[in-house]
Amino acid sequence: MSFDKAEYEVVTFDPSVGFPVGKNLFYWCSICGEKVPSLSLNSAGCKCGNVFIDTDAARVAIKETEKVKLVRRKRKSWL
Ligand SMILES: [Zn+2]
Repeated sequence: MSFDKAEYEVVTFDPSVGFPVGKNLFYWCSICGEKVPSLSLNSAGCKCGNVFIDTDAARVAIKETEKVKLVRRKRKSWL
């Protein structure tokens, strides 16, 4: 399972510093292949539970960070 590399690019981050959030940033879980938006109105998680975004606490919780990639949705070239 992977993400669409034409549409998303990997962003490097240091989990020991913190988890970046942003409108176009998603946490992609390589275990279940689901993308979780880093910014959303409601708390959300991937289906295997490795990634959980807690909007009430403004917190990103990831159990196994090495299994997760931060990806940014690319701007469409025709815009
Ligand atoms: Zn998962």
